[in-house]
Amino acid sequence: MSRVYNFSAGPAVLPEEVLKEAAEEMLDYKGTGMSVMEMSHRSKAFEEIINEAEQDLRDLMGIPDNYKVLFLQGGASQQFAMIPMNFMKHGVADYIVTGQWAKKAFQEASKYGKANKIASSEDKTFSYIPDCSDLPISEDADYVYICENNTIYGTKYKELPNTKGKPLIADVSSCFLSEPVDVTKYAMIYGGVQKNIGPAGVVIAIIREDMITEDVYPGTPTMLQYKTHADAKSLYNTPPAYGIYICGKVFKWLKKMGGLEEMQKRNEKKAKLLYDFLDQSKLFKGTVVEKDRSLMNVPFVTGDKDLDAKFVKESKEAGLENLKGHRTVGGMRASIYNAMPYEGVEALVAFMKKFEEENQP
Ligand code: PLP
Repeated sequence: MSRVYNFSAGPAVLPEEVLKEAAEEMLDYKGTGMSVMEMSHRSKAFEEIINEAEQDLRDLMGIPDNYKVLFLQGGASQQFAMIPMNFMKHGVADYIVTGQWAKKAFQEASKYGKANKIASSEDKTFSYIPDCSDLPISEDADYVYICENNTIYGTKYKELPNTKGKPLIADVSSCFLSEPVDVTKYAMIYGGVQKNIGPAGVVIAIIREDMITEDVYPGTPTMLQYKTHADAKSLYNTPPAYGIYICGKVFKWLKKMGGLEEMQKRNEKKAKLLYDFLDQSKLFKGTVVEKDRSLMNVPFVTGDKDLDAKFVKESKEAGLENLKGHRTVGGMRASIYNAMPYEGVEALVAFMKKFEEENQP
């Protein structure tokens, strides 16, 4: 068996330990004689899996009791519609547009009410996070929306925006569980799990209880109402059971590793290695303003498209996979989520050094 270092932005690398454990349990989960994939979601075994997953996540993030934890489907993109359908009670919401995903969420919200773009970094290809200390928050805004870590552009909010008392909703798909978080600062935190937590398709939404009501956009389907899932403890219909099981395993792995403080330390160490190299390189250049750099997604370029393509090709041959930048921006991007070992980043930096020597500018 040979595993590569997988720098994919998502679906992305998962802890080897978790995958091995899941493989061992594939045919017979804890003496049930069946795989979790084959098991009723109403069974005792699955009830334990989902309850433990929720509790472990609560422990890791310090989620207060007045927040619901929902395991949903439809990818993070489905939330772009569910959020306005459920929360635009007065038909107004403020969006900070810091990348493609925030922009898509903003555009989707515009279908259900008045979505205001109160700040944007599109003027400089989303290479920074706008100053959010004194934003023109709308008086009647039902919420303020951000994408906390911008997967494509490699930026991250280091400080949350001042929402002037309005509920804050954050897409944390690409920074989920990468560092400690104060849940009480948000009305809702959500993310697709396929980057830091588990298989694509599962979405975790952590929502303050008072936000969840029956007062939703007229015609909102039952399945798209948070109340449906909150009331049924994520078991209104058949949930993405196998995905939830893997998420649960990753939560246990994170606890064993020392929790989110420890992950932050590891992630900072990994990111520093790569950013320090980029900062002194004569060939490669990071594309993000230093203060807003993400710990998870590191985009970089050589400035020469052909050389970028050569780098992507040769790095793949060297066992460093998925370093091609997002199709909308080009260049390269190394996603270094929780499960990427330090050695993976060391291997990448060693390869970049060698490439630089062989391709002197
Ligand atoms: N939000 C962010 C920050 C993302 O990075 C992505 C996907 O990469 C999405 C939303 C969309 O996720 P999905 O494909 O699960 O709908």
